[in-house]
Order: sequence, then structure tokens, then C-alpha cells
Amino acid sequence: MRDEVRLGTVAGFPVALNWSVLVIVLLLAWGLAEGVLPETAAGHAAATYWAAGVVGALLLICSLLAHELAHAIVARRAGVEVEGLTLWVFGGVARLRGEPPTPRADFMIAVVGPATSLVLALVFGTASLLAAVAGLPDLLIGVAAWLAYVNVVLAVFNLVPGAPLDGGRILRAALWRRSGDRDKAGATATSVGQAVAYGLVMLGLMAFLLGDAVGGLWLIFIGWFLLTAARAEHAVSTAEHVLRGISVAEVMSTPVQVGDADLRVTDFIDRHVLSGRHSAYPVVDAGGAVVGLVTLARLRTLAPAQRGTTRARDVALPLEHLVTASPGEPLAGVLARLDRESGGRALVFDQGRLVGIVTPVDVARALETRALVAQDGG
Ligand SMILES: [Zn+2]
Repeated sequence: MRDEVRLGTVAGFPVALNWSVLVIVLLLAWGLAEGVLPETAAGHAAATYWAAGVVGALLLICSLLAHELAHAIVARRAGVEVEGLTLWVFGGVARLRGEPPTPRADFMIAVVGPATSLVLALVFGTASLLAAVAGLPDLLIGVAAWLAYVNVVLAVFNLVPGAPLDGGRILRAALWRRSGDRDKAGATATSVGQAVAYGLVMLGLMAFLLGDAVGGLWLIFIGWFLLTAARAEHAVSTAEHVLRGISVAEVMSTPVQVGDADLRVTDFIDRHVLSGRHSAYPVVDAGGAVVGLVTLARLRTLAPAQRGTTRARDVALPLEHLVTASPGEPLAGVLARLDRESGGRALVFDQGRLVGIVTPVDVARALETRALVAQDGG
């Protein structure tokens, strides 16, 4: 995602902040300063309420971070690679790469998030009670009590059994354990997620019609977000199911048409692009070693006037940014590694020799072929 600011590293995980978090901090601080706190702790100046509101909102963001961090730590312990944590308007996302190895790991990674939120609720709740007993300032008591309440809400909302919520992952783990089929369990969990999302949208519409405009819009908004996420995940898990058992060698384009890395771009276009039918060409140095990948998209970013003075290797995606694969490995694993930076393509090496390339077209064809075969088989 582009709309993020890197915050730093926590427990070895890169943490990023989506700009929308600023909006949510302001909204939360506003709610605390203008609504919650004047009711629970009356008689302070507006600036005091706002200061307490901002502190409370920031502590809530820290609570969200703790929730996501818990997911990430348990995932890492289970051997699942964690790309990083992003905080945004709906809370946080721990971006996992790869799949949990067992239903038990799947369950543990999911359940630890809401568990952390509940523990935090308990801590803030106790703090608020102790502060009340000790006669500490009422603003402190109010903020702690609010944090306890919001963490309970977070835990409960996340336990709703529809993917991509934590409850949906727990459901997936349970179904997976029973059936032994992770993909099917994942598809069911995301279907339930979509049903839950429709339910939230309906509830929101009802609340809206009954006069609670703000609450209703919030529910519609959350339901819509959940629906989008559940649909995307459903598509991924269905694709993974179809792709299961397909190896890289079965779909890759081979042999690969390579180009000379030291050619000027003008000559490169003449020699390869105009006569070729590909949208990406690995380029090799004089010794035959692959140094990068020239794509039509990369060529387009070069001003025509510079084509005569630029070498192919200078517009190529460098090898270290490319995703590489071996012919025998499962295609699903390679797809999980592909990102925007790699141009959606993977180079296939067999004992250091370039033997193929996997492009989005190859993957789409494999999916369609599989779907055809599946239809035939009933
Ligand atoms: Zn969670």
C-alpha cells in the first residue's frame, strides 16, 4: 500500500501507519473530549478534555498494535513469515506470508489477538477501579474505563465468526481440523464472512431508517469493508484450491527469449520487442548470467529521446527485486511471493540455469484449464 508511513520496527516487525489512523485518532479524541469524559468526569476545561482525549486515543492505537503484534509473534513462532504490521482506520492488519502449517497453529494465531484485547481490557478496567479506590483524578479513571470498554468491543467484534475477522480464522481452523481440507475450510469461513457482512449492512440500514444515522452509517461502512475483504479472500482461497497440486514446471513459458543486457534500448526494441510476442524479457550479461527483467511497462517509462543512450540493463528490474522459483515447486507458493515490485512475474531457475518464466497470462491460463477439467469431472 502506498498511503502508509513507516513508523519503525517493533519486536522485529516493520510497523506502518495508514494515513487514515490520523482521522481515527481525531475522531476518538473528539468522542472522548466532547462526549464520554464530560459525562464521566464533569467540570473540567475543554482543553483538559481534549488533552485527555488525545492521550486516550493514542493508548487505544497502542492497544490495536498490541493485538496485531500478538498475531505476528505467534505466527512467527509457528513458522509463518510476517511481512509487517499496518495500522489503519479499522484497526490493524498483520500481513502474513504463507499459510499456518496446522489447524492448531491457525487457531492460535487467530485467537491470540482477541485474547490480547481482553487482557488489555482487564488491565485498564483494574487500573480504573484502583484509581477510583485510590482517589486519583476522575479524568484518569474515565480514560482507563473507556479503554477497557473499547478493548472489550474490539475483542468481541473480532470474534464474529466470518473471515477475515479473527473469529472467521478460528472457524476455519475448526473446520480444517474436522475435514482435513484447509482450502474448503477457508472458503466456508469467507462465505460466512460475506453473510455476516450482509447482516451488518442490513442492520446498518435498519438503524439508519430508525433514526440512528451515524451508527447506521458506521455499520454499513464496516459491513461494506468486511464484504470486500471477505470476497477478496474467498477468491484467493478458491484460486489456491484450484492451483493446489500444480507445479511451476506445468505452467511456465519455456524456452525463455532472453535479451542482451548491454544493448541500447533502441536496438533492444528493434531486435526483441518489435518482433517478439512477449511483454517481459530477461536480460543477460556477456557471460550469460541473468541480470534483470525488461518489461514493456519499464520501457514505456523511459523518454524516447533517451533510448539511444540507455542500456537495457539500466531499465531492467534488477535481479534482486525479481521473484525466482524452481520448476518442481508448487505454483501456489510462488504466487504468494509475487508482489507489485516483481511485475507479477517469476523467473524459473534449474540449478542456476534460466529455464522458464511464469507470467500472469500463464497463471490465468492454468486457472482456466483447471476450471475446464473440474467441470468435465463434475
Ligand atoms: Zn485480530
